[in-house]
Amino acid sequence: MQLSEFGLIGLGVMGKSLSLNLAENGFHLSLYNRHETGIEENVANDFIESDPLLKSAKGFDDLNKFVASLEAPRKILLMIKAGPALDKVIDLMIPVLEAGDVIIDGGNSHYKDTKRRIDYLANHQMHFVGSGVSGGEEGARKGPSIMPGGAKETYPLISRFLEAIAAKDKYGNACCTYIGSEGAGHFIKMVHNGVEYAEMQLIAETYGLLRYGGGHTPDQIAGIFENWMGQGLSSYLLEISINIMRKKENDSWLIDQILDKAGNKGTGSWTTIAAAELGVPVTMITAALFARYTSSFKNERIENSAAYNFEKNGTATSIDIDQLRDAYQIARIINHHQGFHLMQAASDDANWGLNFSEIARIWTNGCIIRSDLMEQLVEPLKTEHRILNMKSMVTLLEKNKTALGNIIKAGVNSDQAIPCFSAAATYLLTYTSAQSTANIIQAQRDYFGAHTYQRMDDPESGFHHTEWV
Ligand code: NDP
Repeated sequence: MQLSEFGLIGLGVMGKSLSLNLAENGFHLSLYNRHETGIEENVANDFIESDPLLKSAKGFDDLNKFVASLEAPRKILLMIKAGPALDKVIDLMIPVLEAGDVIIDGGNSHYKDTKRRIDYLANHQMHFVGSGVSGGEEGARKGPSIMPGGAKETYPLISRFLEAIAAKDKYGNACCTYIGSEGAGHFIKMVHNGVEYAEMQLIAETYGLLRYGGGHTPDQIAGIFENWMGQGLSSYLLEISINIMRKKENDSWLIDQILDKAGNKGTGSWTTIAAAELGVPVTMITAALFARYTSSFKNERIENSAAYNFEKNGTATSIDIDQLRDAYQIARIINHHQGFHLMQAASDDANWGLNFSEIARIWTNGCIIRSDLMEQLVEPLKTEHRILNMKSMVTLLEKNKTALGNIIKAGVNSDQAIPCFSAAATYLLTYTSAQSTANIIQAQRDYFGAHTYQRMDDPESGFHHTEWV
């Protein structure tokens, strides 16, 4: 029997799409899905039969036979539900694998779990790679952005597979690169998703301002977004939002039938927790996450809208569309600045040596946050990691700051909650203020808890305490 070059476990949405992508790139595959009597039977073989692209692939529901069908050292991609299920599958695999084999986890695992699994597999002389994969079902099929982490010496064993199936940047290079040791790959995928939360929320808030504040129809909003796409604001998320705005069911807009309760699968809260642990303000991601949580209190919101009657007090506002565009543009820049700041802090803390220009480059295609902005960041990130300190950004933010302020006012005046825009404005003001109000916080801390403070007039003199009364 000819042995397969690459194995894949977990034929759900992502596993199936990645299998087709691998097969299209000419790789000989072995595919495995678990057998659950009466529920999940013959999944791999049925899938292989469903698509001629898979004619050379072999299907299994027996782990021993699946492993035996692979060339050594075995390279096996797991596309299964993150969490305890993954540990369970790894424990089933260890007795049938050999020293030198490589397991790649392409799911959305927590980066700390990935580090633990790398150490665990290393004890068995096996390699473990925690790899972020972004692009959803379509990206997985046509070319995702891939973010593999783990031991550097493992990457050459798997690079030809991952780089072949990854999306390509504008120069034709793979949107896949070795990210860093430990859980670095999964960390940056988590931050990618966090940035994605805020990007989505900004579009939702823009929609809210235009629709409920400014009285524009979804079709008109689609037209406005389309103009922005042509004005340097192109992004995958704006593009899909245009299609969403125009989608009709019978004669009504489909979005008007979609319940306004946002779900989440946890990566936004992981990003927020990681940021709190590392002391980095990712206020836009946090605002977007909490906006989703607040949306889920639908019944309370309905009750309170009757109790408070605010919505009727808000005035229809004439939203200046150019100002909204300018505010949206710089809010997105601030969001990206915060995400890259978080990655910088994690890299410094764990000594990952992240290459931020490369991270931006592999996010220029295939992934959900691909955009003109991401393209623009690749070059300057080679020398300046703080996006708000890039010369071009300083000029742009100075120019558009008034627009951001005016949009916040328009939101307040029309009773539209715009938490992400507000977080952007607040962060910009705080980050550019030489004098903050934290002296008051320090005085209060020293007053009630003798926590001490440093002096402006003698910063080198250490910490001081005052008997306040
Ligand atoms: P699906 O729910 O479609 O598929 C999950 C797969 O995991 C199925 O093959 C399922 O097998 C398998 N599985 C679940 N529990 C077990 C178990 N205990 N033992 C063995 N196999 C198990 O998920 P997706 O394909 O959407 O996602 C897979 C991973 O990729 C997840 O970690 C997800 O977060 C991540 N991801 C998803 C993206 C997306 O857009 N959907 C994008 C990027 C990453 P069975 O069919 O037998 O239940």
